[in-house]
Amino acid sequence: MAVLALLIAWAMPSDAALSDGERAGISKQLSAVEQSIYMDPVRGYAQVMAMDARIPAEETALRLEWYLRRAQAENLLYRYDEFEHSIDAAEKLLGPDNGSALAAWVHMYRCVIMQRAARYGDADTCFDAALDIARRHGDGRAEVYILQERAYSDSLDERFSPALDELLVAYRLAIQSEDPFLLGIVEETYGAVYGYLEDYAKSIEHYSTALELYRKLGYRTFIAEALYGLASTYRYQGNYDEALSHYLQFRDVFRDNESVHFKFLAEYGLGMTYAQSGDCPRSLEAIARAVALDGPADYKAELYKKQAGCLLSDGRVADARTAVERAREMYGRTPDLSGTSWELELQKIDAQVTAAEGRYRQAYAILGRFHEEYAKRQEATDAEQLAQLRAGLESRRKDMEIARMRERNEKDAIELHRQRQKMELQSYVSLLWIALVILALLFVLWQRRTARRFRELSLRDPLTRLYNRRHVFALLRELAGRSVPGKTELSVIVMDIDDFKRINDLYGHAAGDRVLRTLAEVSAGILRQSDTLARIGGEEFLIVLPREGRDETLVVAERIRAAVEDARVPLSDGREIRFTVSLGVARYSPECVDAESLFTNADHALYAAKAAGKNRVEEYRPQS
Ligand code: GH3
Ligand code: MG
Ligand code: MG
Repeated sequence: MAVLALLIAWAMPSDAALSDGERAGISKQLSAVEQSIYMDPVRGYAQVMAMDARIPAEETALRLEWYLRRAQAENLLYRYDEFEHSIDAAEKLLGPDNGSALAAWVHMYRCVIMQRAARYGDADTCFDAALDIARRHGDGRAEVYILQERAYSDSLDERFSPALDELLVAYRLAIQSEDPFLLGIVEETYGAVYGYLEDYAKSIEHYSTALELYRKLGYRTFIAEALYGLASTYRYQGNYDEALSHYLQFRDVFRDNESVHFKFLAEYGLGMTYAQSGDCPRSLEAIARAVALDGPADYKAELYKKQAGCLLSDGRVADARTAVERAREMYGRTPDLSGTSWELELQKIDAQVTAAEGRYRQAYAILGRFHEEYAKRQEATDAEQLAQLRAGLESRRKDMEIARMRERNEKDAIELHRQRQKMELQSYVSLLWIALVILALLFVLWQRRTARRFRELSLRDPLTRLYNRRHVFALLRELAGRSVPGKTELSVIVMDIDDFKRINDLYGHAAGDRVLRTLAEVSAGILRQSDTLARIGGEEFLIVLPREGRDETLVVAERIRAAVEDARVPLSDGREIRFTVSLGVARYSPECVDAESLFTNADHALYAAKAAGKNRVEEYRPQS
């Protein structure tokens, strides 16, 4: 058995140590899951939970990140108890030195917990510490997030001036970061703060911007939040059509989803709006749907009050009484709300229902108490309103600052664009220059090449590509001029095709041309590099042989004659032309020192060869 257990232990993948690659992989997935949570927290939450088993106990950094993601999902899903547990667990892993890059985030969520418990003073100190950590780590994203959370917290505490200050800093950072999500959360918080300040137009403007940004990102939870903010603001503003339309859109965001919280909020919003707009039948339907769901007691208290009002106007006095009692029960569950205007309002409805029940004396007493408390409250709110007025003025100042900042940003963008264009233009100009220089170079090269080709052409005979008369005589004159009689050897051969006229007559002029080309090839094949072969007339050729003695020249001439005799010029009709040449040879000597006499002597020899019967080589002999 023990052996078996060992074997199993060996065969099972060990959950102990992770390789660096595995660790990096899980960490990457954990940061990717954040976006998934923003898109759809239910799915994101499931993804986080599925990763639980893959993180071994000793991987504290990974576990910390895991708890943070889990907390983010729970927060968005309104699972606040679990959220708190996750933050507790993350804090334990953080240790006292806050060395982790995630420390700022964990801290911030701790502050959010304080804010939700209405411990605004503690939350403020906490947010300060979190900001410190974020700045120390250079985590600009966390900084913006914390600043807007802190601003929200301040506005809940009705401290609007610091809230707007913080939002302005957050807004500036968000714009610099060019991160649409950060800009979205700042805009959303602006929406909320202006809502509290009862500046509904501005609130709607900011919520709409946030909504647009979230829609581009596809972050559904945030889309829902912005829609809810918009709907509620429209409701406070008394724009019930827009309010209803936005509550319905809000309800649709998570329709397929099991989030009771969203459903409750949607029905709550609809129930309240229908009631306020005077549509009691629809309001009663929505309220019935809402109170059947799990929801916060203070929200339910509001619903029961509206329900009581509607039922009373419908003459259903007994049902209205039940609703009033239910509302009272809800206020009993939320001691924070005792003495507030909301609770006071219940007394007024209670008095109306009591009157409808025919208990006028009691109704009168309740109403009396209501007015007494209302007057007391009014005194307190006067001071509050003054503070709000001041905050309103402050907010207008901030608005101007924001507008200025936007303008500056636009100006910066335009300036950047202008500079970019200037740089582009400059690079175009330098490219143009380079192109021009290349073109000029190409032109020079082309010119030199064509000049060389023209020179070549002026030296060559176009039919045989051999040198022409002009070139070969110039060469011969130069060589003769440099030669020293008795010391230098220099010979020439003049060659002429035999009976060429007959070849032309028999086979045609084109065939004659081919014969000329064949002769050029055959002769060139026999000559050396230093020899020059040229066509000097119709079927007459001159060969200049420097440094060749008498015997070598005669050998070369004879070899050409024999090779020509053996050569065949094939015709397209299958026939072959055979032809012969006669050659005359002359050499440089004390008696013959210039080009003209060299050529004349060789020509004489050629004449002799022709006279002797053609197809032969003759040497110039003086007086022959
Ligand atoms: P010989 O053996 O005495 O040299 O007789 P020949 O017929 O070769 O000499 P002649 O001078 O009587 O004729 C030369 C001919 O060469 C006349 C001319 O039509 C022809 N001819 C000259 N230039 C060209 C050419 O470029 N192409 C062709 N096909 N024929 C040419
Ligand atoms: Mg001839
Ligand atoms: Mg001739």
